[in-house]
Formats: sequence, C-alpha cells, structure tokens
Amino acid sequence: MSRRPVAQINLAALQHNLARVRALAPSSQVLAVLKANAYGHGLVRVAQALTDADAFAVARIDEALALRTAGIVKPIVLLEGFYEAAELPILLANNLQTVVHNELQLSALEQTSLDGQLKVWLKIDTGMHRLGIEPAQFELFYRRLWQCSAVLPGIRLMSHFCCADERGSERTSQQLAIFSELIRDKADQCSLANSAAILAWPQSHGEWVRPGLMLHGISPFAEQTGQQHQLLPVMRLSSRLIAVRQVQQGETVGYGGQWQAKIPTTLGVIAVGYGDGYPRHACNGTPVWINGREVPLAGRVSMDMITVDLGPNAHDKLGDEAVLWGPELAIERIALSAGTIPYELLCNITPRVDYQYL
Ligand code: PLP
Repeated sequence: MSRRPVAQINLAALQHNLARVRALAPSSQVLAVLKANAYGHGLVRVAQALTDADAFAVARIDEALALRTAGIVKPIVLLEGFYEAAELPILLANNLQTVVHNELQLSALEQTSLDGQLKVWLKIDTGMHRLGIEPAQFELFYRRLWQCSAVLPGIRLMSHFCCADERGSERTSQQLAIFSELIRDKADQCSLANSAAILAWPQSHGEWVRPGLMLHGISPFAEQTGQQHQLLPVMRLSSRLIAVRQVQQGETVGYGGQWQAKIPTTLGVIAVGYGDGYPRHACNGTPVWINGREVPLAGRVSMDMITVDLGPNAHDKLGDEAVLWGPELAIERIALSAGTIPYELLCNITPRVDYQYL
C-alpha cells in the first residue's frame, strides 16, 4: 500500500457547488476562477468537470494556455491581463479575453496592428487598491477602448472587493456605491462578486459572478464551514499511519520536544508533513480524523511526518488511514488552527501528493 499522501478530488461535489452558485445568483453567468492550479485541485481536471460554467478565469497566460492545450474551448479571462504587446497575438490565437487595468495595456491595444479583435474587461479600482484604474480615469479609458480597433465592441466592466467576507462591511458598501455610480449610464455587462459576495452581497451579483473558493466547497468566511452554506468539500487529503508507539507520562515527541504526554498514551505517526503541504504552523490539538474519531496533533509538524495522540486505549494499526481534511474534517478548522486561510493550505500542496479524481 502506498504511504504517499493522497488528495482525492470529488468532481461531483465540484458540480454540486457550481449548481449552488447558480441557485444563489440565478440571473448571473458564472466565470469560474481556476487560478493557481484550480486552488490546488488540478486545473485541467477541474475545468473538464465544470461543463456548466460559462467561462473560466485564470491569473496568468500559462494557465490559460494549459487549458487550451488540454482542449478546453470555453471562454477564458486573464485576470492579470497581459504584460507586453508581444503577447497580444497569443491572446488572439488562443481566444483569450484580457483584463485591462493600466495605461500600458491600453496603449498597447491602441498601437497594435493585430489582425483581429480581443474581448476586453476593464478593471476599476473601487477600493481594493491592487489592480485597476482609478474611478476618475474611467470615462477616458472607456472611450479609448471603444475607439480601439483591436478591441471587440461590448467591453465588460469589473472590480474586486477587499472585504466582502466581512458581513455588513462599510467598505464593501462603498465599493458597490462607487462602481454603481460609474456605470450608471452604461449598458455593459459587469462583474464584482467573488465567493463571499455571492453568498453575502446579492446586490453585487451583476451579469457575471466570479466564484473560486466556494466552487471547491469551502467557506470564504472565517469561523464558518462550506457545509453551513450547503457546499460540499471537493478535496479529501489523507495519508497513513506509519508508526504506532507507547509513551510514558512526561515523555515528549518531535523536534523541540515541545509536546509532553500528561498520561501514558499511544502516539501515531502519519506520513504527511510540510514537505507535502501540511501546514508547519498547525498547533498542538489540530484535529486529524482516524478510524471514525478526531485525534489531536501532538508536537511539531516535520517535513514528512506528523504525530497525533491516539489516546491510552488506541486500537489503531499501521497502515490505517488518517484524514487531514475533507468531508470528515473541515479544512476551515485546520486553517484556523494553523493561523492561515484555506486558500493557502490548498495552494501549498506539493507534487509529492498523489491525486485521485473520483
Ligand atoms: N476575482 C478575482 C479578481 C480574484 O482575484 C479572485 C480570487 O482571489 C476571485 C475572483 C475569486 O475569489 P474567491 O476564491 O474568494 O471566490
């Protein structure tokens, strides 16, 4: 039996979560965000499973080209846009849509002698202060894009929220107000909503919603799980017990010896560590699911192993399966325990982990 950690990817759960997005935003089209290897789930397999999505969004051109090479024909949007004019023919040849968020991109589009037209999304910075043009630049950019012969008529408008995961946040209301005011007399299609806004800010849905995390069955809100939003976890990360040993009261385990047995107990050693993407900062007590119950992490996370306290009367054996996160154990809890967010846990999974698609 393999001792490598396994990430099982439940494609039916992915489709369920997409259906949930549709139910929450019935009038919107779905631009499924699959950047960073589809949040660590496997870009091509996830795209192939999301047959009901209207379009895909990725951050970078190599991600888009990987999808095209795999035969994905749905529209693809580059969220970061392009960096230099030399990329424009590649975008055209591969039918990639681009976000425009700065003057350099706009000038490149104005000056290109491209033999064809590109679909463009104009990104406006309404308060995130990451990518996007200033609201004051909007009318000028908008006009120049319309006049650009390399741009297909029908520009789409977008912005991104910084605090949609904070319920009732003033900032989100402000961003919405700025965006609504700018597009007041425009008939173009718009997109604002990430997962948190799909769930909590229905007034932001517009013509296109952009779910990422929730498609993978995870809550964008700290202290909540995807299950509470009727989402199903897509990834189940598991590994196996590779050692079971008794320790006496007062004995320690692992680097630094910073966990100490309060009573005689059984320790289980599981073949997963930060070298596989399990979070190094997961604290003592972080739950692991073994043989139908939760057991606490004991001691520091190593590169290839973690240790858990199986309890004094444990019957667990070598080779037994241990679930690190998945339907049995919400990844949101592990993220909290490790002082991070589920996004990071997913993106950190390394090539040492085997993927199985169900
Ligand atoms: N839209 C943009 C521009 C993004 O950068 C992201 C991800 O960070 C998303 C949508 C999807 O966000 P989430 O995964 O929170 O749904």
